[in-house]
Amino acid sequence: MFDKILIANRGEIALRILRACKELGISTVAVHSTADADAMHVRLSDESVCIGPPPSKDSYLNVPALLAACEITGADAVHPGSGFLSENARFAEILGEHNLHFIGPKPEHIRLMGDKIEAKKTAIKLGIPVVPGSDGAVGPDDDALAIAKDIGFPVLVKAAAGGGGRGMKIARTPDDLALALQTAANEARAAFGDASVYLEKYLEKPRHIEIQVLGDGRGGAIHLGERDCSLQRRHQKIWEEGPSPVIDAAARKKIGGTVAKAMQQMKYLGVGTVEFLYEDGEFYFIEMNTRIQVEHPVTEMITDFDLVLEQIRIAAGGDLPVRQEEISIIGHAIECRINAENAQTFRPSPGRILQYHPPGGLGVRIDSAVYQGYIIPPYYDSLVGKLIVHGKTRDECLMRLRRALDEIVIDGIETTLPLFRALVREPDIINGDYHIHWLEQYLSGQSGG
Ligand code: ADP
Repeated sequence: MFDKILIANRGEIALRILRACKELGISTVAVHSTADADAMHVRLSDESVCIGPPPSKDSYLNVPALLAACEITGADAVHPGSGFLSENARFAEILGEHNLHFIGPKPEHIRLMGDKIEAKKTAIKLGIPVVPGSDGAVGPDDDALAIAKDIGFPVLVKAAAGGGGRGMKIARTPDDLALALQTAANEARAAFGDASVYLEKYLEKPRHIEIQVLGDGRGGAIHLGERDCSLQRRHQKIWEEGPSPVIDAAARKKIGGTVAKAMQQMKYLGVGTVEFLYEDGEFYFIEMNTRIQVEHPVTEMITDFDLVLEQIRIAAGGDLPVRQEEISIIGHAIECRINAENAQTFRPSPGRILQYHPPGGLGVRIDSAVYQGYIIPPYYDSLVGKLIVHGKTRDECLMRLRRALDEIVIDGIETTLPLFRALVREPDIINGDYHIHWLEQYLSGQSGG
């Protein structure tokens, strides 16, 4: 096992990793920018190192500063959390070159899945069903219109290096195609430094369903069921739940089995998520995330596994905690991502939290790094915290969620709490009857009066 882990992240995920380290008896090193000197992850860790000024590129993405922090503190492993360097294959390699463990997948798997075109090709090879689309990148010399017609309109132009919903444009008709290709490529070049784009059939009313996996890197791999992340704004998840209201045990076993088998063949190491769109009873692979995800607590609540703790144990050479047949899904869990944003305009609202009262009671969990008096800095994402609620059934979970949302107090900044309080009372949400475009349609109805 590792002796000392440096946590190369901030906010709630840094605190989440710190908690797993404490339980495992591993010392922790927090790193922080000058803007985060008073952050909770810094206060609770055994040691901390300031790694630079507020902009991420100078601090949380500053590889030489992180290496120096490992050197100074004698850390033997680095946990990258999610975001920042968590899916940077080169960072994982550099750590290896310095005799430091990267708590995450093998660099070649990070690289493979980071390129969505290669990821899709790999999925096809491994027998995973994919969204119909172009065979690879669509370049200036290709007859994009012919390819799109072959797929059938509407089509979605997607960035090979995509992430965070950026570099994605819909072409509903042949007339839209040239502009969609150009804007997606420009956006991709600006965001990722790679303008390659590809085409996919645009699905009208799918759900986003993802399978959580865990692999030992030696050919052992299991799945831990699905999360339904269909409630999205601008392709960003805001509400995640498990199990999905539309997936039964037989469908779970089938897709979960396919995915676990693929991970066994790859000799995948650590935690990962294989993402699908699901429409009319069919699954279509869209991408794989090779890190711990923001919504991992949903799976933790319904399987009773500490995913971050297992991720650390496995990175240190440990075995899978259980066999597939020993995993069962217990009850239902929902996670709300509470952001420091206006609930209607979604304008960020950084600033000081004047009042903070987290909800409590049976089945209620808060993953957050804020406290009363904490100032949310303007430099990073606007997540204030995640409210995760568990119940024996979906109805019980919704009942608790309504109560917890009414109980929580966060004053001084604007948050998206009013949106969740409305959503949890919407008939479609209560019935589990929604798809990936539901929220945008709901929000445009709200703003239209
Ligand atoms: P990113 O890496 O940017 O998050 P993903 O490929 O994971 O991109 O897609 C993010 C979201 O975009 C999906 O959850 C879904 O809502 C939407 N999306 C992606 N591909 C399609 C598609 N072919 N048809 C319709 N919506 C899609």
